[in-house]
Amino acid sequence: LSLSETSASLRELLGPDRVLTDGPEFRRALQDGTGNRGISGSASLFVEPASTAEVVTAMAFCYENDLPLVTRGGGTGLAGGAVPDGGVVLSVERLNRVRSIDPGLWRMEVEAGVTTGTVHRKALENGLLFPPDPGAGEQSTIGGNIATNAGGPHAFRYGVTGSWVTGLEVVVPPGRVIRTGGPVRKDVSGLDLTSLMIGSEGTLGVVTAAWLRLVPAPESRGVVVGIYEDAGTGCDAVAAVMAAGIQATALEFLDRGALAASLGSFPFDCPAEAGFAVIAEADGTASEVERMVTELAEVLSAGAIPPGDSAAPGFSGGADGAAAGILTIIGRTEADALWAWRDGVSYAVAAQRGGKISEDIVVPVERLGEAVAETVEIGERHGLEACSWGHAGDGNLHSTFLVDLADPDQMVRGKAASDELFGMAIRLGGSISGEHGIGSLKTAHVRQALGDTVVELQADIKRAFDPKLLLNPGKKIPLG
Ligand SMILES: Cc1cc2nc3c(=O)[nH]c(=O)nc-3n(C[C@H](O)[C@H](O)[C@H](O)COP(=O)(O)OP(=O)(O)OC[C@H]3O[C@@H](n4cnc5c(N)ncnc54)[C@H](O)[C@@H]3O)c2cc1C
Repeated sequence: LSLSETSASLRELLGPDRVLTDGPEFRRALQDGTGNRGISGSASLFVEPASTAEVVTAMAFCYENDLPLVTRGGGTGLAGGAVPDGGVVLSVERLNRVRSIDPGLWRMEVEAGVTTGTVHRKALENGLLFPPDPGAGEQSTIGGNIATNAGGPHAFRYGVTGSWVTGLEVVVPPGRVIRTGGPVRKDVSGLDLTSLMIGSEGTLGVVTAAWLRLVPAPESRGVVVGIYEDAGTGCDAVAAVMAAGIQATALEFLDRGALAASLGSFPFDCPAEAGFAVIAEADGTASEVERMVTELAEVLSAGAIPPGDSAAPGFSGGADGAAAGILTIIGRTEADALWAWRDGVSYAVAAQRGGKISEDIVVPVERLGEAVAETVEIGERHGLEACSWGHAGDGNLHSTFLVDLADPDQMVRGKAASDELFGMAIRLGGSISGEHGIGSLKTAHVRQALGDTVVELQADIKRAFDPKLLLNPGKKIPLG
């Protein structure tokens, strides 16, 4: 079929407003969150089905006509997963209904295009919490979160997106609807296809809806920020929190470069000597939070910047005996201000040179300090400024090289630095992606990370679901 025949057929099947071949929305769909590292794709058509039945129709048409199909959620992915390389982009954004919410049973069923932020608000309006909190929640969709098994700061205590999904509705080739799990909280009646779909990055099917598990929202939250002169002392503080047995909900870090880029919008004052920050959060009843914040402040005080004239106001402590480099925040509004700032760190870092090459390696938590230091050293070897921040308690670093997108030489050096970074993560006993996924950017490194046998098993699974290899080709699973 020619392009005009293809678009005419799809318009007839889905409706004229559901198929685009040009325009701003079409062009937006050629990029995702990797746009700020200069990555862009190409596609013939953009389709926007508004129901599961229309997804079935679109997939059946693509399968019948051998058209590659790339599923798109909010387009915030950081691995190039939604960037097409020809074929059809299928957006789930019109699948945006909350199908049901049962506050008394702590669960909801939502369509894949509902944004992460909407899920959070709907849960909270009903006194409940959906804990996964990847940083671009106002744009990302729950389908995208499931397809990438997204993490976020609160994964430290609560786990990643997959821990909160009890069932899925998925359209699989050549256009069949399957339901895995459901509103049940446990189900071992077959192979666990729910888990298989979670994190499959659009390579096995199109997620159209999900059953989500919720928990009662905690009454209160409190945050403690520790400021250190260097990464070594800061990483010791991270280890000390865990060794003390404190169940922090989040345990985050920023190194010197990430702090320098983002402190301009920090909602509190910060000591000038800041070389490393640890952010720890506690939630629970008001009294539990008060106790945990005091404990966190005590533990994080060891090695924090000591009291002195240069200590910033607000940093001399809310907890007795806290060092000057310790800030305690109790209450939802101020904690929200801190997390809103934290969500913007990625953009602040990118603004330094106009672009960034950012990875999300993961290492055993005790190797965090080495990974932070080696990230900077790798950058130096390639003549690039580097920094990292991320989810310290999970050993998950957003290791980043600052680049000018218009400078091809810097882009080549940035790519070489990333390759070296992946080798470092594997050498330290970790992996090449902790939460953003493999997408198109890291597929070439999967064999190195997983080994031939695991890769071949994954390729067999891919072929079982998608025998024509049309779903998100070239992503996630190296074939051949
Ligand atoms: C500022 C910023 C902060 C971020 N912080 C975090 C963070 O803390 N933790 C984290 O994990 N990620 C983070 N991310 C990355 C990103 O937000 C997540 O990967 C998110 O889950 C992607 O969701 P999306 O809807 O935008 O998916 P997209 O980018 O549209 O797609 C991502 C992948 O999922 C597939 N996909 C999307 N929807 C479906 C579906 N319905 N069915 C099947 N496949 C589908 C796509 O084909 C693609 O492979 C951040 C991104 C930004 C820009």
